[in-house]
Amino acid sequence: MSPTPLRLSKSRFTYGLQCHKHLWWRVHEPAAPELVPGPALRARFAVGTRVGEVARSYVPGGVLISGSPSQAAARVAATTAALAGGAPVVYEATFVAGDVYAAVDILERTREGYALVEVKSSTHVRDQYVADAAIQAWVARRAGVAVHRIELMHLNRGCTYPDLSDLFTRADVTERVEALQPQIPAEIAGQLAMLAGPIPEVAIGPHCTKPYDCPFLARCWPPEPAIPGGIEPDVRSTLHGALAPFHARLAFLDFETVQPAIPVWSGCHPFDLVPAQFSCDAVGPGGALVHHEWLAEGPGDPRPALAEALVRACEGAEGVVAYWAAFERGCLNHLAAAVPALAGPLQAIAAKLVDLHPVVKRHVSHPGFRGSFSLKSILPVLVEDMSYEHLAVREGEMATNEIARLLFEGDGMSAAEHAAVRRALLEYCALDTLAMVRLLERLRALAGRAG
Ligand code: SF4
Repeated sequence: MSPTPLRLSKSRFTYGLQCHKHLWWRVHEPAAPELVPGPALRARFAVGTRVGEVARSYVPGGVLISGSPSQAAARVAATTAALAGGAPVVYEATFVAGDVYAAVDILERTREGYALVEVKSSTHVRDQYVADAAIQAWVARRAGVAVHRIELMHLNRGCTYPDLSDLFTRADVTERVEALQPQIPAEIAGQLAMLAGPIPEVAIGPHCTKPYDCPFLARCWPPEPAIPGGIEPDVRSTLHGALAPFHARLAFLDFETVQPAIPVWSGCHPFDLVPAQFSCDAVGPGGALVHHEWLAEGPGDPRPALAEALVRACEGAEGVVAYWAAFERGCLNHLAAAVPALAGPLQAIAAKLVDLHPVVKRHVSHPGFRGSFSLKSILPVLVEDMSYEHLAVREGEMATNEIARLLFEGDGMSAAEHAAVRRALLEYCALDTLAMVRLLERLRALAGRAG
């Protein structure tokens, strides 16, 4: 009963639905470096595990089937015993049928039969989740379980902390799952036959990134052509006019956020972006830049102290510069709602926002942007001596994960690690605002030349 290399699992089956070549590599090269999850993926797995555990408490009184997937026989036996013993709910109920192994998040006994519940740390039903539930229902039925209803249990964006009674929504996807059932045996047979043969030929295409980014992109896709150096940016004569709003006394502002799947602070919903750090370079009365920064510490609500520090940092600013200001505006609106005592000054900051993103997008082009106008893409081209490459935290998702670690797992860190994570986050956020300062200088120089 131990899994053979050619047995499918629920995950393998869904990888195979996306691409047979991807599945072939996963099975035949399980030690491939591309399959070692990076920090971002590990953080997403951890969130998924946590949401799965919490979901069980909303369907209480069940028997948990534990053990690793390699202990399939023991898990199947424990599931059979739990069902035979009349357990009203089984968590991680495990079945093997037709060379496919599947563990069901929650199997709930009802009057009509069993409800199969797949838990997702998402706020929506997505097609790929339905396919995921479909293979489980197929395996469970083949193993003799009378599954009569299939549900996706996902987080409810309408839930508001501290009332977590409606944290989850249970969406009935029975009809959609039933519609997929007839195709499953042929797909399983196709995947098993493919795995028994040589690596299949699969052309690259949109399936390489949908519904998930394939880890083998670098093997299949040709490398991006190098952009020859020495190409000057193409600047429209309208750039000078577009920079007019940037001549007031300025502050350069950047937020970093955390995004708890399960809300932990008052008024928050699942996956709300909650500001937990900012960097602000403000032009002082004498014209010199003054750097302000703030980073949350510990699991308490960071918003009141952050809002206070932010209002102080922006005092005297006539314009507040951001890059893709919709994000900063969203953060300021969130803060204004969370800290009503400072709503006025926070809304005043929002009203002063001026955005560099559309200025670059509409008036400057360069092949080195590679079609992206994100700050990370344009900065190395327009401000050649600035880059994020040397930093320990180099992009937004990494910052979000590291702040979450600092806030919620900081107690388990050594003092040295704690200090290193804080330093890395402060350096990253500070570089974002300094990058805007330098970018504006560069745009002014380009406008001078173009005019
Ligand atoms: S990169 Fe595309 S073609 Fe290559 S294995 Fe991944 S999904 Fe398949």
